[in-house]
Amino acid sequence: SRVAAADVHDILRRTFGFSGFRGQQEAVVTRVLAGLPTLALMPTGAGKSLCYQLPALALDGTAIVISPLIALMHDQIRAADALGIRAASMTSADADNAATAEALRAGELDLLYVAPERATTPGFEALLAQARLSLFAIDEAHCVSEWGHDFRPDYRMLRPVLDRFPDIPRLALTATADEVTRSDVLRQLGIPEDGLIVAGFDRPNIRYAIHPRGNAGQQVADFVKRTSGAGIVYATSRAATEQIAQHIAKTGRPTSFYHAGLPPERRSAVQAQFVGSEDMVMVATIAFGMGIDKPDVRFVVHAGLPKSIEAYYQETGRAGRDGDPAEAALLWSPNDFARARQRLSEVEEHRLASERARLDALAGLVETPGCRRAILLKHFGEDPPLACGNCDNCDNPPKVVDTTELARKLLSAVYRTGQS
Ligand code: ADP
Ligand code: MG
Repeated sequence: SRVAAADVHDILRRTFGFSGFRGQQEAVVTRVLAGLPTLALMPTGAGKSLCYQLPALALDGTAIVISPLIALMHDQIRAADALGIRAASMTSADADNAATAEALRAGELDLLYVAPERATTPGFEALLAQARLSLFAIDEAHCVSEWGHDFRPDYRMLRPVLDRFPDIPRLALTATADEVTRSDVLRQLGIPEDGLIVAGFDRPNIRYAIHPRGNAGQQVADFVKRTSGAGIVYATSRAATEQIAQHIAKTGRPTSFYHAGLPPERRSAVQAQFVGSEDMVMVATIAFGMGIDKPDVRFVVHAGLPKSIEAYYQETGRAGRDGDPAEAALLWSPNDFARARQRLSEVEEHRLASERARLDALAGLVETPGCRRAILLKHFGEDPPLACGNCDNCDNPPKVVDTTELARKLLSAVYRTGQS
């Protein structure tokens, strides 16, 4: 690498104010500085921005950052400004695009954010040819894949632009991890398999437990009685949120319910109440939780099957953001799968295989006699532990019927019968 490790740590400390890298940030940064094409797969909040911002400062020239939304770009630029990083965007919402182009040519920018629609125009390519570039960062890279939830056709046109500058390292970043999307992103952006770095999905302070469901309201109330702190209970229907909240109310614990059918004032009022509370239990549909910043959520209960392993991970991930012990409990019934499979008949043909795979992955998680965390991490492509020691199955290995022992007994019974 052209950049000394000492300089990298110096930038990390002085510009970003961090005492060290987190997770696999250093591995990603090292690859980028060595000019190697890389896909960084890290969950939301893991610190993906640093993976391209730091190399952008360490290397000569401007980093071109492809980003799908103007609001995201402007957030990033505000944060960069605050750190003294020279960042700008060229979008329809920016009045000074000509000046920005001039600053790019003059080498006065560390970072330039653009949407893929602009990045793939001949005019922009010509502008890039007049600039000194340090790297291409493709943020929210799952947008390249039709299988992802935010497919953006223009992400698919990026490859020729990147290939036009073969000496400029490319770094793709995303939090969306399923296998199909992952290999699609690698292929579409010309990154080799060994350029994939996956990390940071483990949430060691969350204890996972999965139980068969009986009377959900009663089970949740029992759970709440023996668990302290604030928590979220996800129910699968609006009616269920209200029913379960009634059960919890009987335990004396402060509780409320939340779903998209409530008036907006009521929703923001109970949400604010929850954020400020140390022991409230919010029973909600999945409409609740996104963008809520409450680090001390002590538990997340799923009273029914989540949509996918990704959704389960995201929803349980709202527990224990402060790093203190937290619990994730899931109640499921075989009926959940029967219903989900019925709904497959309404799915469009081309999505059927991936929808089936989504269900099978969930079945693998709830039915495993082994470590839950191992299943989760393997799903995200991370090397799993053999046993995490912090899930129901690790604490209490389920008794699996020993078929060889059973066969021996059967055989000996047959043998004895035959003898008599
Ligand atoms: P992502 O894009 O992966 O969701 P961000 O890049 O927005 O995550 O970073 C999430 C938060 O983590 C930011 O507040 C950032 O300042 C912080 N962060 C990133 N790297 C580090 C680090 N090495 N040490 C401490 N905090 C960090
Ligand atoms: Mg990000």
